[in-house]
Amino acid sequence: MRIDLDANATTPILPEVVEAMRPFWLERYGNPSSAHQSGQRTRSAVEHARTSLASLLHCSPREIVFTSGGTESDNLALSGILQTFLDKREPAHLITTQIEHHAVLFAAESLQRRGIEVTYLKPDHSGVINPDDLESAMRPHTKLVSVMLANNETGAIQPVGKIARIAKAHGALVHTDAVQAAGKLPLDLSGEFKNVDLLSISGHKMYAPQGTGALFVRKGVELAPLFLGGPHERQRRAGTENLPGIVGLGRAAEIALSWLEGQNHQFFGSRSQAVPVQIPGSQSSAELAARRSHFERRLLALIPGAVINSADAPRVSNTINLRIDGVDAEALLIALDLQGVSTSFGAACMSGATEPSHVLLAMGLTPEQARSSLRLSLSRLTTDDEIAQALEIIPAVVARSRSQSPIDHTP
Ligand code: PLP
Repeated sequence: MRIDLDANATTPILPEVVEAMRPFWLERYGNPSSAHQSGQRTRSAVEHARTSLASLLHCSPREIVFTSGGTESDNLALSGILQTFLDKREPAHLITTQIEHHAVLFAAESLQRRGIEVTYLKPDHSGVINPDDLESAMRPHTKLVSVMLANNETGAIQPVGKIARIAKAHGALVHTDAVQAAGKLPLDLSGEFKNVDLLSISGHKMYAPQGTGALFVRKGVELAPLFLGGPHERQRRAGTENLPGIVGLGRAAEIALSWLEGQNHQFFGSRSQAVPVQIPGSQSSAELAARRSHFERRLLALIPGAVINSADAPRVSNTINLRIDGVDAEALLIALDLQGVSTSFGAACMSGATEPSHVLLAMGLTPEQARSSLRLSLSRLTTDDEIAQALEIIPAVVARSRSQSPIDHTP
């Protein structure tokens, strides 16, 4: 059995999510836009999922736009807001950060080429954006501020509540990429995040299928669609809905909510006739956090000279970014893969080659340090047994790789 320590790339789909989706492939496949009864029934399933996602985010169901995932949600948010200014030939300024996912960075670069002014805020050494830097970067024509909620590589949580307050005081809209935060942190769009106008979600980072996602768009925000061709999603995202995917995302949102509320059971079947089922792994967010802390402490004890990147930052409870100076993380990833352990590092660039992580470089790590950093990310299904096995395999593979290297690694 493989040990999956790459949950930030994609999470397993929960069996109960698959169960919720199954009838919408096999029996209840009517187009939700059709006028007949089959269509009406699937429309109500889409609306039920919308309500479930809105409950997770504490917003109105009318503020949810279903998309194909985090990348589309990020592009829709940035382009959808800023295209309106390009159309009106009004000057517009976007503030984002150097540590965003490429879904935001590449969208920002594309807007920059089309005439939008863009500022990229730099994080501190622990990978966190300082809200004072945003204050100084604001300009009279700043129309949008986009800062992610949790970083996909380090897990560092950004002070988005504070950032949104500052942006609002200057009259700018606020987008946050919450792809790595949804289902891991409570997201309250009527409380802590009441100044956030747009928020991106991806299904496959929260135990729903790949190719599903959503964008929260606060009531009253004007958004130009990316796709044209129909009135779907209140004119914001044309195209027949991914019905099973949306149902799965809705179910995953219901489960995430109960998990965040600390309910220590998962359910099969509908809520009304729920059958509690013991699923191995973390049964509450506190347990996942404890499992990650134990894993991290033992790795530091067993691997001389290892360092946790972003150790000083508040972090989501599943992510470890482990730096082992003198060890090439790409070689380590391959060696661990051969031992049945999936991990991740850096980012694949266009040529398919691996570049040192732009996130770690922005934090001030050298290219060598960034190339020595490996991401280990746990899921809610990661078990103590898997962690124990990983704690045998990883230090042994590191020791082997060091023994083959000419550098002296005694700390
Ligand atoms: N934003 C962040 C922070 C991510 O981690 C990812 C995926 O890794 C995305 C956006 C893109 O999401 P998707 O894979 O659903 O397109």
